[in-house]
Amino acid sequence: MMPDATKTPILYVVGAGPGDPELITMKAYKVLQQADVVLYDNLANKELLNLTKADCEKIYVGKHPYGEYTPQERIHELIQEKAFSKGTVVRLKGGDPYIFGRGFEEVLFAREHGIQTHYIPGITSMQATGFEDIPLTHRSISEGVWALTGTKKDGSISDDLRLAMQSNSTVVIYMGVKKAAAIADTYTQAGRGDTPVAVVQHASLPHRKTATGYIKNLPDLIAQHHITHPALIVIGGVVALDKEL
Ligand code: SAH
Repeated sequence: MMPDATKTPILYVVGAGPGDPELITMKAYKVLQQADVVLYDNLANKELLNLTKADCEKIYVGKHPYGEYTPQERIHELIQEKAFSKGTVVRLKGGDPYIFGRGFEEVLFAREHGIQTHYIPGITSMQATGFEDIPLTHRSISEGVWALTGTKKDGSISDDLRLAMQSNSTVVIYMGVKKAAAIADTYTQAGRGDTPVAVVQHASLPHRKTATGYIKNLPDLIAQHHITHPALIVIGGVVALDKEL
């Protein structure tokens, strides 16, 4: 499409929150109503698209069923093309766009290409474990929170897990379900296999599911409860505050 000189190219990188569509911010709500184009992915609740104007163009840029993720380069191309031809582009991402979301890559790209950028934070999915009675910190049980990735660029778990494991803080692993065996081994080999763990799938949504146990049994726990993507692994005493494991 041809650039339109009457349009101001703007990119809003917007957090869609953990799943429940009512968990977005007022700013996100307003900006969705103004959007000319929304680029959304898998974890952003589709109901949020109902907030847009009738002529807003909605483009799915997530994983394709049984297929590949939309390449990041393609998302960048769409941001550029749509911002210059249509004006206000909202990039709607699950949780918070700057927590394992590659949101800042899109901001940097847009700025390099003369597009104004704005960031609207979202509630990150680990905060939604609160609905399962799992607070991230709790006095005298957990002194802080580590948020780690189970899947780095090369596919491996964050090496920081070994550091996190030694701390008195809660450890939350995003994108970790497929690495359950390696995570369990890391703890077990360090003599910490009896650390409480919870796996929370579809946090904040009606069909959410939680399994709680000990980290040494993490792979079995996931298999027995049929837990799949998207799920978080939460490790530490906060998991067992109101439960018998
Ligand atoms: N930016 C997102 C994270 C994207 S990485 C955020 O701030 O939450 C994708 C990972 O997020 C998933 O593998 C899963 O670990 C986690 N995740 C996202 N939404 C989730 C949900 N509703 N329930 C459980 N885990 C979720």
